[in-house]
Amino acid sequence: MPVITSSKTHKEYDVIVVGSGAGGSMSAYVLAKAGVKVLMLEAGRNYEPEKETPMFNLPKDAPLRGASTPDKPFGFYDATVDGGWRVPGEPYTMAQGTEFTWWRTRMLGGRTNHWGRIALRMGPYDFKPQSRDGMGIDWPIDYPDLAPYYDKTEELIGVFGSNEGLENTPNSPAGILQPPPKPRGYELLVKKHCDPLKIPVIPSHLAILTRPLNGRLACYYATSCGRGCSIKANFQSTTVLLPPADKTGNLDIVTQAMVREVTLDSSGKANGVIYVDRLTGKDERAQARVVILAASGCESARILLNSKSNLFPNGLANSSGKVGRYLMDTVGSGLGGHIPALENVPPHNEDGVSGMHMYMPWWGYKDQAVGKLDFPRGYHIEFGGGRRMPSAGMFDGLDRLTGGSYGKKLKEDARRYYGSFVWFDGRGEMIPNDDCYCEIDPNVKDKWGIPVLKFHWKWADAEIKQAAHMQKTFAQIVEAMGGKVLGDGPQLDGSKAILPGGKIIHEVGTTCMGAKKEKSVLNQYCQAWDVKNLFVMDGGPFPSNADKNPTLSIMALAWRSSDYLVDQLKKGQRLIISKTQVNQNHFSNYERNRTEKNGTSRSHQVGCSHAGSISGIRLGQGHGRSGKVIAMDFERSQPDASDGSVGTDHDEGGA
Ligand SMILES: Cc1cc2nc3c(=O)[nH]c(=O)nc-3n(C[C@H](O)[C@H](O)[C@H](O)COP(=O)(O)OP(=O)(O)OC[C@H]3O[C@@H](n4cnc5c(N)ncnc54)[C@H](O)[C@@H]3O)c2cc1C
Ligand code: SF4
Repeated sequence: MPVITSSKTHKEYDVIVVGSGAGGSMSAYVLAKAGVKVLMLEAGRNYEPEKETPMFNLPKDAPLRGASTPDKPFGFYDATVDGGWRVPGEPYTMAQGTEFTWWRTRMLGGRTNHWGRIALRMGPYDFKPQSRDGMGIDWPIDYPDLAPYYDKTEELIGVFGSNEGLENTPNSPAGILQPPPKPRGYELLVKKHCDPLKIPVIPSHLAILTRPLNGRLACYYATSCGRGCSIKANFQSTTVLLPPADKTGNLDIVTQAMVREVTLDSSGKANGVIYVDRLTGKDERAQARVVILAASGCESARILLNSKSNLFPNGLANSSGKVGRYLMDTVGSGLGGHIPALENVPPHNEDGVSGMHMYMPWWGYKDQAVGKLDFPRGYHIEFGGGRRMPSAGMFDGLDRLTGGSYGKKLKEDARRYYGSFVWFDGRGEMIPNDDCYCEIDPNVKDKWGIPVLKFHWKWADAEIKQAAHMQKTFAQIVEAMGGKVLGDGPQLDGSKAILPGGKIIHEVGTTCMGAKKEKSVLNQYCQAWDVKNLFVMDGGPFPSNADKNPTLSIMALAWRSSDYLVDQLKKGQRLIISKTQVNQNHFSNYERNRTEKNGTSRSHQVGCSHAGSISGIRLGQGHGRSGKVIAMDFERSQPDASDGSVGTDHDEGGA
């Protein structure tokens, strides 16, 4: 992707988008297409899947045959070129007794480069969990509010799947989904044995093309999607959203730009951000009329909590005290089985898109309604197995089945058992609770001097019981298949079966949307109640975390919120900063401390609308306007653009 450096940015943009993952890229795409001038600030480096994806490399060509290492937990070829469970120099802390693990990428496209592509719609029940069973928090919107955006998102990114008409598992309108790939042999066997158990096994929904789309090729079953896809057959924002957004000419991207805080004008409106240029280590400032945070759930909360000022002493947009609160992940638990019926299967073609071709949506709504289950909410099952490309550790533990073998017998055993294992993973809904949240650690800063997050985490009874139920179900399926559970399982103690918080990498919440200002951070358009020109468009706005993997919903929600923003800009709503306000920038605590420390006069730093660097904060230079009145200003009732689009003032000269 073409990117620019800080020095090449314009003086001011209509919108700054922080983060280029699922939410940020979708909002940049929608806004740029609508004519809005966007500056995207991304903490990681530029990343070009078409050039960088190791598309055909074999495990044997990688160190340790591609096995996972602390630096590359998902294996040598994983697309995460920067980041992971640990980001050097960027720690986080945990309260005593908390076990929480936080996956962060630092690269253009964020986690969309290597996600599993499982793209499930939330159903009508998922938007109103509190109304249904009295627990958790309702969304301020219903399924029909988001449904058109699910349609548009699926159509744009390309999702395959089928419409089965199952409870709380919505169909897509005809023609939206691409046809699913054929099930593999072991998947059909799982289905055969799940049918009598009344567990539905249906085609999965993955954001992978099975038919060409918009100049992108269909998947030709190369190596795994976790590496990225050089032919653009799977969805990653770096191949699907950012290139068309860039083509509009309305998008500038600065990479290596680590945003530390949102800045305000004297009236308390956002007017930009301060970020660290990771290449120079210097602070830079970018200005815009609207700021969208999409740095991922917890990271956006961190930016808000670090944006303290005398107007917002507890962090920006935090009058409710809810920033950082209601952190959620997905309930996860897994179990494997050895299935003798799959031994010695003659070699056959198991080609297909990487990832599962079938999955099990939650089937227990009726049992729950009549009190047959001891936990609320549901989980779906993702499962894998089969005869894939052998990787490091493939036959680890084989001796437990064979009693140990060598030479010719070892080869025979390897052939016999290859493909005879099936693994089930439950992915369940977590209900937000008061014990799971993040806050700023007052004692620890990262290498950029930015205060870090401290996590608090405790699974509640509902999730623990759900994990135990997962284990019981997996064992039931393995037994129904005539197999034997691997290891010591099933683990029927849910507190031991459940994976630690954050492990499923579906962290959402911390800047929840809601119907009431006192109880939530954002309104139904992901717009901060306290600061009208500030939005959060990542997983942060989720007030609940249904069992459905969150990313499709993050994108659909970002599209809906961006449409709303475009509409507001077109109507000339009072979203926009004026020149006067730019010149009377409100000082955040961070800037004030810095000024005092550096002995630089505050009046010099405030509101400099010319280019140059003052007290280490460069204000942008190059082809921006020099101190001219911003065309679409706070007091106007109509946007400047004669064609109804937004942001013509961006050009040199402006109004
Ligand atoms: C291995 C793996 C598999 C997954 N599989 C699935 C799946 O199958 N289905 C599913 O729905 N979800 C899946 N997920 C989760 C999915 O990737 C996330 O839900 C989704 O990417 C979140 O989008 P986001 O926009 O909130 O954040 P991200 O995609 O994480 O993007 C955030 C971006 O913001 C940048 N950033 C962070 N802080 C700052 C800052 N201060 N300043 C500037 N930029 C910043 C980051 O560098 C990053 O590029 C998976 C995740 C992983 C890691
Ligand atoms: S499996 Fe298909 S979509 Fe995924 S990386 Fe390979 S070719 Fe691309």
